[in-house]
Amino acid sequence: MRFDTVIIGGGLSGLVCGIKLQKVGKKCCIVSAGQSALHFSSGAFDILDRLPDGTSVRHPLEGMRHLPSTHPYSRIGQDRMKEYVSATTGFFADCGVPLCGNPLVNSYRLSPTGDFCPAWLSLSDFFLIDEPAVDPGARILIVNIFGYLDFNPAFIAAGLEKSGATCRIIAVKLDEMERLRSNPSEMRATNIAKVLDKDYVRSELVSAVSKELKGESAIIFPAVFGLESDSVISEIRNSFDTKVHFATTMPPSVPGIRTQRKLRKHFESIGGTYLLGDTVDRAELSDDNTVLSVGTVNFGDLKLTADDYVLATGSFFSKGLCASPEKITEPVFGLDVDYVADRKNWYDTDLFATQNYISFGVSVTDDFQAVKDGRPIRNLHAIGSVLGGYNALQEGSGAGTAIMTAFRVADIIIEKEEKR
Ligand SMILES: Cc1cc2nc3c(=O)[nH]c(=O)nc-3n(C[C@H](O)[C@H](O)[C@H](O)COP(=O)(O)OP(=O)(O)OC[C@H]3O[C@@H](n4cnc5c(N)ncnc54)[C@H](O)[C@@H]3O)c2cc1C
Repeated sequence: MRFDTVIIGGGLSGLVCGIKLQKVGKKCCIVSAGQSALHFSSGAFDILDRLPDGTSVRHPLEGMRHLPSTHPYSRIGQDRMKEYVSATTGFFADCGVPLCGNPLVNSYRLSPTGDFCPAWLSLSDFFLIDEPAVDPGARILIVNIFGYLDFNPAFIAAGLEKSGATCRIIAVKLDEMERLRSNPSEMRATNIAKVLDKDYVRSELVSAVSKELKGESAIIFPAVFGLESDSVISEIRNSFDTKVHFATTMPPSVPGIRTQRKLRKHFESIGGTYLLGDTVDRAELSDDNTVLSVGTVNFGDLKLTADDYVLATGSFFSKGLCASPEKITEPVFGLDVDYVADRKNWYDTDLFATQNYISFGVSVTDDFQAVKDGRPIRNLHAIGSVLGGYNALQEGSGAGTAIMTAFRVADIIIEKEEKR
């Protein structure tokens, strides 16, 4: 099967790159083995909230000036970063994914533990605030679904009360949800969202919560609404006279899964081919380091060929990188991987210390061309969390790197075509 571009991995980076290419008429195929980091995400996109030395960053574009030259943002360059940062909200809105937040200034989001964490942009289910505190006079009703354990209202209340707010917690028992409760492992966010997608269950919930309201200025629900569509979110918001917010739950992430689905749907609606549940397990390269084809588990002998290939397979979590006791490898192409040789330096037994393994990734040139045996591969670029040179967890830069590198590589491929 022949395409202009084959993208390996259909998480945030692969989808953003595919959509950008498909929009300009490139025939793209995304092969994706399974769930992506979006399925487990907070629903907020981070771009840069801390420098490697720990200095906090309020203005991401300003902070980027202080990053090392091998950081993906430094490879993209300040001018392009400015352009891409400004384009992000519009790009996602076109895909049916409304984002809130000021792209030029980090805001704060409420975490599942009740702390306010820095965030760049957020899915519009959630609220972002300019300072890490709420109005001290606020009276907030925190509503849980009875029996749901991946959302802890007491943590949220403790966090909000630090700013002086007064919180009250209730757990609503819903008949339909009680059936799920017969098996505790069924009380997961996605299963709850499926039940709450039913109109009559939401009506029961709204009616129960309305009866409980005692003049509170806001209601907070766990983010377990609208697996398929965010119209459910607006419907819940419109059901009350008071402000309604949603707070992140422990994974799985309902808003993250909805985002993944919407991006995929948009990619397919503009003509892209998305092969879900298949794994690229081999590649054929010529002597001059050009990818000739890739093969997948499901297609067997049938090969996928393209002018360009993009590696968007994620990090260890998604098996884009694999670790054995001796070494770290990239499994599809056998690319060079940048990591420290001594295994003792891969991780720190202090869970909260900087974990070096998070900044390991495939070797690339400044144009994100992947490198194998010390030589760049002419038509293979790498994007997203398979890249090294940055520590997404320590810097708060995961989604930002996925989106920015996807934009950049799409542009490189488009520019290449224009020069041909
Ligand atoms: C659990 C978790 C939660 C996170 N939450 C946040 C957050 O809330 N905010 C934030 O800013 N950042 C977060 N991050 C950082 C995250 O890495 C980025 O935000 C971003 O989503 C990564 O996207 P990606 O496309 O590079 O990789 P991934 O999302 O990991 O996607 C890679 C995809 O490639 C597929 N794949 C792998 N190998 C193959 C193969 N051989 N063939 C075909 N397909 C393959 C995988 O199945 C997967 O679907 C989180 C990371 C993790 C691991």
